[in-house]
Amino acid sequence: MSKYIVGIDIGGTKVKFGVLSIEGEILDKWEIDTDLNDNGAYIIEEVWSSILHHRLLTDPGSILGIGVGAPGFVDAQTGNVYEAVNIGWKDFELGEILREKCKLPVYVENDANIAALGENWRGAGNQANDLIVVTLGTGVGGGIIANGEILQGDNGTAGEIGHIVIDPQGYACNCGRTGCLDTVASATGIVRQALEELAHHPTGKLAVLYAEQGSLSTKDVFKLAEEGDQSCIRVIARITDMLGIALANAAAIINPSKILIGGGLSQAGSWFLTDIRAAFIKHSLARIGEITQIEYAQLGNDAGIIGAAYLVRKHLAIE
Ligand code: ZN
Repeated sequence: MSKYIVGIDIGGTKVKFGVLSIEGEILDKWEIDTDLNDNGAYIIEEVWSSILHHRLLTDPGSILGIGVGAPGFVDAQTGNVYEAVNIGWKDFELGEILREKCKLPVYVENDANIAALGENWRGAGNQANDLIVVTLGTGVGGGIIANGEILQGDNGTAGEIGHIVIDPQGYACNCGRTGCLDTVASATGIVRQALEELAHHPTGKLAVLYAEQGSLSTKDVFKLAEEGDQSCIRVIARITDMLGIALANAAAIINPSKILIGGGLSQAGSWFLTDIRAAFIKHSLARIGEITQIEYAQLGNDAGIIGAAYLVRKHLAIE
């Protein structure tokens, strides 16, 4: 009897798998390395083989459907990936290829969007009708749910909060433009700003740490800020202010009940959230500022596989 949903989150280094119940409970999860050979040509074959080798799934008849999150720009209608730079896919018919192999319903979405769907189904979103999820990690990702539906946009580019321009005179972004939120609030951006501070204050704690380690991480910056280091406090004040601007602008468009902060930086203390909230209120329309709750996401790395399973659940409920 069909009773399991398989949720898959394909990333540039790992492919994460989950076997879930129809209610979205994770029954088991595992991961494999992402095979980047020949522009990711073997990934789907390896994904299907890994599923069939799982003890719960040796009979494909037990699977209700497969949901997949993929990086890059995705056409959710067809399951095509327009472009996933870190894997090497270009105009890759992910949905069609997997459907062909498994003869099961397959649904595909962008990875940031499945994380937002996962948080909204089983995490901190709590099935909000209007929700913004921003992920602060190596890069800044975003997913937006409006009127209960994930926003995809005309060509799969909706919710790219990381590429909201917050400083036209700012840093160059890897999208080819200047001053995107990603250049400030991503791990790369944070370290870059810390290195600039260090150049201005060569005898500070940050400079000492850098000399010791030969490198800096976002963790270092947050830790030193907590210890009262003024350089790191300035860097984080700038990040929270820029996040406040970007989120206030996004909120002016969809008027969310909640904004969730996910990714590595959601491990920072509650003070970081308090600072983001203050910056958001400072830059928001008063009516939006007073209603929007800002919280940390809850599901961590599981948000993707849960959101991928939600794609299947949602379609099954309709059919
Ligand atoms: Zn950009």
